[in-house]
Amino acid sequence: MTSSETNIITRFAPSPTGYLHIGGARTALFSWAFARKHQGKFLLRIEDTDRERSTEDAIQAILSGLDWLHLTPDAPPVYQHQNIERHREVIEQMLSSDLAYKCTCTKDALDEMREKAKAEGKPIRYDGTCRNKLSVPDDLPFTVRFKASPEGATILEDLVQGYVTVENNQLDDLILLRSDGTPTYNLSVVVDDHDMGITHVIRGDDHLTNAVRQSQIFDALKWSRPAYAHIPLIHGPDGAKLSKRHGALGVEAYKDMGFLPEAMRNYLARLGWSHGDDELFSTEEFINWFDIAAIGKSPARLDMEKMQATNIHHIQQGNEDILADIVMERLALSQESKAKLMSALPMIKKTAKSLDNLIDNLRFLFLARPIELNDKALQSLTEDKLVNVRNVFPALQKLEAWDEDGIANFFGQFMEENELKLGQFGPVMRNMLTGSGSPLGVYDLLLLLGKEESLARLEDVLSN
Ligand code: GLU
Ligand code: ZN
Repeated sequence: MTSSETNIITRFAPSPTGYLHIGGARTALFSWAFARKHQGKFLLRIEDTDRERSTEDAIQAILSGLDWLHLTPDAPPVYQHQNIERHREVIEQMLSSDLAYKCTCTKDALDEMREKAKAEGKPIRYDGTCRNKLSVPDDLPFTVRFKASPEGATILEDLVQGYVTVENNQLDDLILLRSDGTPTYNLSVVVDDHDMGITHVIRGDDHLTNAVRQSQIFDALKWSRPAYAHIPLIHGPDGAKLSKRHGALGVEAYKDMGFLPEAMRNYLARLGWSHGDDELFSTEEFINWFDIAAIGKSPARLDMEKMQATNIHHIQQGNEDILADIVMERLALSQESKAKLMSALPMIKKTAKSLDNLIDNLRFLFLARPIELNDKALQSLTEDKLVNVRNVFPALQKLEAWDEDGIANFFGQFMEENELKLGQFGPVMRNMLTGSGSPLGVYDLLLLLGKEESLARLEDVLSN
């Protein structure tokens, strides 16, 4: 690792105009992972300069989305609108060092300019009318424009896209300050990225042209540019740019659908980045493996089935403490229930088909007696099966060794003596113990419920 790598600072810079969508979450994840990998810092900047469109709800959605994904910034968020004076100060500095100029062209004049260019089949650009004026009248409204060099080219060495070259004569003089006194997006981003010491800007490739503009401003100010990595946007399964139609929802929605944060990080990581053939990995592995050079140049497609499969993997492999917290929240369980939950999780998580399914399969543990049997369970209570349960019950009451071996030996002996098969009493007992069936076998259920509760549940049905 070189010394410059030890000071890596990345940022995620969402505009709070909507929820944290899946593309934003991936940008945040890559920026976060890159910082983690290089022991750098990951910062959050809320780009809320558009006061009309920015909302407090959107800010909260972004913060809670990041929090849920455990993409924790290393410093309190920077709110871009609070830096507006600093942005104006830089514009002043650019005016006084001839890097910018005041433009007093009216809207009508600009419209006319545009129409004329269109009619002549020329590119629509500001024609530089005010560029070389020595002074402008004080009382006219003005914008401030960047005095971009008309010669040469601006070259961007993007870590994903490679070299991007734009002839400077293709770019017109960008507005830095609007006539209402508000700085524009590209100027604000440059100043903030500079002031925050950002070394690597990782974001969607819809910002690639902005990056060229931003590079010009960095160069003009003689500030060193950050490295840029523009990631291809995520596409839907049909190959079109991701939209709501494809289920491009806020990360909250994925939380509600039962995705684990670990699974989301895994799946999002694979959207555009790869490490050999590895599909399923931990966040630790991802951080260790992450490399901007391994980000693909073509857009990744969102695949719900793969996303579900990733989730199932992480539930089945899941850390039981983390799973327990999620289940306790969903089932509104008290802390006292945790021990019981923890005893069942290792067995049940392996059978899980989804988070909802995991939770459903754990519910039986916390039911109050007498438990309700669903229709299917009730229908299974046929006399030919119940008689076997009745027969085994007194002996089961006497069983001392209520553990894995004890229970298995007990039933082994019972079946042998009575020439019975497990199918002749197991499934029905399973329904009596759970009310709705279970992916676990009856021995496991007896073990998890404990002797007292198991016998009581069986008796509730037998005595009815
Ligand atoms: N605020 C911009 C957005 O939400 C991102 C700006 C940036 O990453 O430079 O698209
Ligand atoms: Zn002008």
